[in-house]
Amino acid sequence: MTESTGSNKSVKLTQQQKDDYLEFDASCCPICNDDRLSLGKLKHPSNILIIQRSTCRACGAEWLEQYAMNDIILTKEGSDL
Ligand SMILES: [Zn+2]
Repeated sequence: MTESTGSNKSVKLTQQQKDDYLEFDASCCPICNDDRLSLGKLKHPSNILIIQRSTCRACGAEWLEQYAMNDIILTKEGSDL
């Protein structure tokens, strides 16, 4: 898997850093563990994928959070056409 931050292609998180980030509800910086995160605008590369840029206000690290649709739940049945 390749990821690009747009500015520095050598920057990478370890799998352990990623796992920790997800395990703790994506609430602390994966680099310095500070919880002062600021979230950027959502981008929708497709209907089933959302990407959001996050920035740590403590250490200045930036990363992209990727959300993939994993289920759909019917909340209203359509009428017969
Ligand atoms: Zn940080």
